[in-house]
Amino acid sequence: MKVVIIGGVASGMSAAARLRRLDEQAEITVYEMSEHVSYANCGLPYFVSDVISRRDNLLLQTPDALWNRFRIKAKVQHMVTAINREAKTVEVKNLATGKITNDTYDKLVIATGARPRKLDVPGIERALWLRNVTDADSVKQALQDAENKTVAILGAGFIGIELAENIRHIDIPVTIIQRSNSILGQFDPEMVQPLQAKLEKHGVKIILNAEADHITKDQVVLKDGRKIDAGLVFTAAGVDPDNSLAKAAGLKIGSTGGLWVDDQQRTSDPNIFAAGDAVEKHGQLTGEQTLVPLANLANRHGRLIADVIAGREVRAHNATGTVILGAFGHAVGITGLSERAAKKAGIAHEIIHIHPNNHAGYYPGSKRLSMKVLFDPLTGKILGAQANGEDGVDKRIDVIATAMHGGLTIDDLMDLELAYAPQFGSAKDAINIAGYVGN
Ligand code: FAD
Repeated sequence: MKVVIIGGVASGMSAAARLRRLDEQAEITVYEMSEHVSYANCGLPYFVSDVISRRDNLLLQTPDALWNRFRIKAKVQHMVTAINREAKTVEVKNLATGKITNDTYDKLVIATGARPRKLDVPGIERALWLRNVTDADSVKQALQDAENKTVAILGAGFIGIELAENIRHIDIPVTIIQRSNSILGQFDPEMVQPLQAKLEKHGVKIILNAEADHITKDQVVLKDGRKIDAGLVFTAAGVDPDNSLAKAAGLKIGSTGGLWVDDQQRTSDPNIFAAGDAVEKHGQLTGEQTLVPLANLANRHGRLIADVIAGREVRAHNATGTVILGAFGHAVGITGLSERAAKKAGIAHEIIHIHPNNHAGYYPGSKRLSMKVLFDPLTGKILGAQANGEDGVDKRIDVIATAMHGGLTIDDLMDLELAYAPQFGSAKDAINIAGYVGN
């Protein structure tokens, strides 16, 4: 069997590696248009500031290692330019030489990811972004070379905030311009306010309810006329599924703009699978199709494709959307629905807010956490949780994500036996307290 994979990072490489484990004979070829495969895109913002100083640490595999260890043929700087479904071939352009070739497949995997959203702002051509290692190299160089060392970031999503933190680490003034009334739109505003305060304390200027009108050589001019100094401009206003190939091949595109797949990651063509940021997911709580551009789902669904190709009877779970972000020592995390999302979807919900300590108050270093948990008023089923604080956010969000996966109710949280010693938690953990308050 010959399997061709388009895109050699999170979902593509998960599919390739898993398939090799399940099938020693399969011929596996990965085409990747950038200069690297299997790179750690989530680490890119930290490379910009040298928090991750060794570039090699971002490169988890090389084409040589993939061939030598797994007999996976990975071709970088090779862009798939067309899919011919009838002939079961792909057209591939070698970006180094310009040479065009065709390759055949029995099964094709589309793992093309997402591209930074294009903003319709005059002057946007000079904006930089972070998608791959080459982008990170360019960003690092641009920050070094810029005569006017000021930065404006368009968008206060995860990547925008991580970039802002790292650019402050190298002492360059940063302004984030955000269209809506709070940072990190998937959270409720009050749950990210402390993070915003922390960013501001560390010199990140945040302008909410503002939009860029146009970009000049040295400034971003806002629609209300304000002028923001910006030797460098970054676009970080979200991502869009990169599915131009799939569209051109006539594959079904969902209502969200993501590539449609069934619960085995199969597209509308039974010989073509897809996973990752390019595809839409089925939301666990709203029941609607949704875009969830996150690494955990990309890896999981890539792996699932290999299982299905190898004949295993597995199906994807619906997506909850579990995310965490930290900046300047403050973390925010979310799983499931925010209040804003529940209202928008018309889902009945009850809310509790709690402010427990991350661990026993009498043990040194105890810090206050804030948690907001939503549950169904009739069934008690947990619908979502958000947390913020300096320590312990990851543990609480992950426990609630696990509880949601298992269909637990708010009352069940009272009975969870969680690991406890004074430096890690409390005999009545924040999670148990959420159960007591919601009971
Ligand atoms: P990608 O991993 O993006 O891989 C797609 C690859 O396909 C790209 O390398 C692209 O060059 C290639 N490609 C596209 N078209 C073609 C073509 N025609 N021919 C050949 N190759 C092609 N997620 C988290 O959960 N947590 C985080 O902390 C986090 N941080 C992030 C930080 C940054 C800076 C970025 C950019 C993303 C971050 N993400 C994070 C998101 C996460 O990286 C993605 O959800 C995940 O990588 C998606 O996997 P994918 O396989 O769909 O796409």
